[in-house]
Amino acid sequence: MIIFNSKKLKILQMTHPSLRNVSDDIKEYDKTLNDLAKSLTKLMKDPFNDGVETVGISAAQVGINVKLCICKVPGSGKNIAMVNPVVLDLSDDINKELEGCVSVGIGPNQLFAYVPRPRTVKIKYFDLKGQEAFLEAKDLMSHIVQHEIDHMYGKLFIDYIDDPNEIMTLAELNERSSMEKKSLI
Ligand SMILES: [Zn+2]
Repeated sequence: MIIFNSKKLKILQMTHPSLRNVSDDIKEYDKTLNDLAKSLTKLMKDPFNDGVETVGISAAQVGINVKLCICKVPGSGKNIAMVNPVVLDLSDDINKELEGCVSVGIGPNQLFAYVPRPRTVKIKYFDLKGQEAFLEAKDLMSHIVQHEIDHMYGKLFIDYIDDPNEIMTLAELNERSSMEKKSLI
């Protein structure tokens, strides 16, 4: 049973300690888990009431440290709720994708960087009914999945960036007019 108030869910910003905690495994596949997944999915659609959606969210980002995340499959309207995901395999091949995070800055101050991650990831997870499932993800979806699982272990995408010059605000990113506007993780 997960105790929370769906009307008071708020996305935490990076100095909040919940974002640095290791989340607990989920043991009960009950109504409260479904309710939390529903609330997170709703929050993803417009987290800051500015009409910009995010393509992934973890429960840790609203201060509930349990292993649940929602990932949006790029190019489709489909969201996948993942409970207790475990990484089974990562490719040696590294790919860089533009990442941001709704817990790392707000509005024009939201931060972005090209994050290097394994190009493909294989994971095992459980759906909201407790059924085991497997997923192999590539490129952007691989980044989304790894980014959301990282939240369950207190890790943020900026932790992968050694050179602070590589971190850009949304305003700086928009200035790069040639750059394609991407969805936010
Ligand atoms: Zn994030």
